[in-house]
Amino acid sequence: MVIRNVRNFGLMDTIYYEAHKNLYLNLTNRCSADCIFCIRNFADGVYGYDLRLSREPTTEEVTGALGELDLSKYREIVFTGLGEPTLRLDVVLAVTRWLKSRSIRIRLDTNGQAALINPGRDVISELKSAGIDSISVSLNAESEEKYNKLCRPIHRNAYGAILDFIREARKAGISTRVTVVEVSEIDLEKCKKLADELDSDFHVRVLSEAASKEI
Ligand code: SF4
Repeated sequence: MVIRNVRNFGLMDTIYYEAHKNLYLNLTNRCSADCIFCIRNFADGVYGYDLRLSREPTTEEVTGALGELDLSKYREIVFTGLGEPTLRLDVVLAVTRWLKSRSIRIRLDTNGQAALINPGRDVISELKSAGIDSISVSLNAESEEKYNKLCRPIHRNAYGAILDFIREARKAGISTRVTVVEVSEIDLEKCKKLADELDSDFHVRVLSEAASKEI
């Protein structure tokens, strides 16, 4: 696993890095939730890599940096990072279009709150049109009450919006995965059942993966 920094960007901010034969993009450190297990509360990044950004990269800076890489060697390019990518939806869409024109497989790792973050927009249609292949959603709870307690979203009704986001993605034909963090408060069996009902794959992450949303 090799981390790559972008030369001349901020103070050598890490806006992309390699892991698990994928390339991960780090567009923001902001999030619309504040999960009690979020690694942002305990560290500056994952795998010993510093993902704190001195400023958020523009579309041109991201595509310019990616243009210097051999992208064909990655299984997929993943929007993830130490924050919620859909807070930068326009950058996600523009970079996705740029990658799709190069026939690259693209995944969005998200907290699923995009509709609340971007009110008035049809986020799923926009992601689909841009070329997103799959979406991995951090659900992290089998009920709204537990979600609010563990993930402390800034928006009301976040849990229902997340479930709707997953349903709409499936309806649009986008491959979906539901993830949960392995902490004692979360009922994994019930979350797995929910993932089945949502016609989505299911993945349990160990605590250290919680903010990176990787694998
Ligand atoms: S774990 Fe993910 S969704 Fe939760 S606060 Fe951190 S970045 Fe946001």
